[in-house]
Amino acid sequence: MALSLTCPSCGNIINQVTKSPQLVVCPACNTTHLLTNGKMEDVGKSAILTDTPSIFEMYKTYKYQDWRFSPVGRVRYDYGDGYWDEWFVRSDNGKETWVSVDEGDISIEGLVQKGLSVPAFDQIQVGGALMINRIRMNVVEKNTATMIGAQGELPFKIVPNESYNYIDLLGPKRVAFTIEYQQDGINCYKGVWVDPFEIVEV
Ligand SMILES: [Zn+2]
Repeated sequence: MALSLTCPSCGNIINQVTKSPQLVVCPACNTTHLLTNGKMEDVGKSAILTDTPSIFEMYKTYKYQDWRFSPVGRVRYDYGDGYWDEWFVRSDNGKETWVSVDEGDISIEGLVQKGLSVPAFDQIQVGGALMINRIRMNVVEKNTATMIGAQGELPFKIVPNESYNYIDLLGPKRVAFTIEYQQDGINCYKGVWVDPFEIVEV
């Protein structure tokens, strides 16, 4: 059942669209709120996410092959030389996942494993290899991401300007893994690169 939340900053009514949002950005006043047991905690204004031409718009419906989905949240990370967007998307059947957009590169992502046991971030070397689920993956990037803005609803708590370390791994058949070294543990996401021209608005 969708819930309604009232923005404590401006009184705007926000209709919850995801299963268990932990971060909600008010579309009226752009205040970022962390959500705990239905209580909203103001953690500051979110930067307005300016759109260099973006493939997605919030709440529109898109199709990739047989999969229909709508963006319901978005978080932007700065990685030093630029930024990328993680779109939190909801499928027709209610399933929620992520689509990552870095300039023209789009990958559909899914959480593979929480609490993965991998070497410490400091020990990772670009150009080295790691075994993830018995697949040999090459380390192609090692970096720090800083949250610089958000929209809509997100399933985790993150505050503006918070950073985390990550590594990108590339394996066979265009399969990519990202390992995030978050405060509450290490998360591994599997991404599949898709042709942007195969994603259409419906
Ligand atoms: Zn508001």
